[in-house]
Amino acid sequence: MKPQGTQLSLFETRSSSDPFAIRVSPRARRLTARVHVGGRVEIVVPPGVKAHTVRDFVQRFTPWIDRKVAAMRSFASPSVAVPEAISFACTNEKFAVDWRNGPKRGLEQTMDRIVVQAPDEPGARALLQIWLKRAAHERLAPRLLQLASELNYSVARVSIRCQRTRWGSCSTRGTVSLNCSLLFLTREVVQYLFVHELAHTKHMNHSAKFWDLVEKIEPDYRRLDSDLLAGWRTVPDWVFQT
Ligand SMILES: [Zn+2]
Repeated sequence: MKPQGTQLSLFETRSSSDPFAIRVSPRARRLTARVHVGGRVEIVVPPGVKAHTVRDFVQRFTPWIDRKVAAMRSFASPSVAVPEAISFACTNEKFAVDWRNGPKRGLEQTMDRIVVQAPDEPGARALLQIWLKRAAHERLAPRLLQLASELNYSVARVSIRCQRTRWGSCSTRGTVSLNCSLLFLTREVVQYLFVHELAHTKHMNHSAKFWDLVEKIEPDYRRLDSDLLAGWRTVPDWVFQT
């Protein structure tokens, strides 16, 4: 069954202001909101639930979620440490991280090893976040441009963002923005996001024509769309932690 009319993409159910992770669970019987210690919010969705149903649920329960988040934040939030390793599923790369705690600040990467120098954990994470953004640009931009030229689409510019809110977007001027966290997802899911954004360069909406175009390039788009939504789970906490 094809999504009709302006059916949203599942992975785009989150508006820019709601930092919720949405997880599709085969075991879930109904929509539920979970608030974890520290205030992380997870919306658990049974398979097959429509995107607008999820959005309506989130909107209806936002006051409850906000109260719960405030309560859970007052517990000591678990500290998000500096990672010991960083793995990119997208490119099959793994980097060992060596944090040297001292007065100096800096980051150096040699092959599969990152040495980060910072006096505290937030400082070390900030340097890794800057590194991640550059790593994402180096790896994602050429792949997107390559695909665009293979499919005969034009992309004016690729920009990399590191937000907890969206995987990608496309402007009317042909700038495609990609989330740096795509590196943590599998290559095929990333490829689907590329296809989705390229299709938006032709149709700036989710009309039937848009989905026809997506399907022509990627017939398995429905599964990949739901994998993309679930992908937030695979992003390590340090990426967004300040
Ligand atoms: Zn879209």
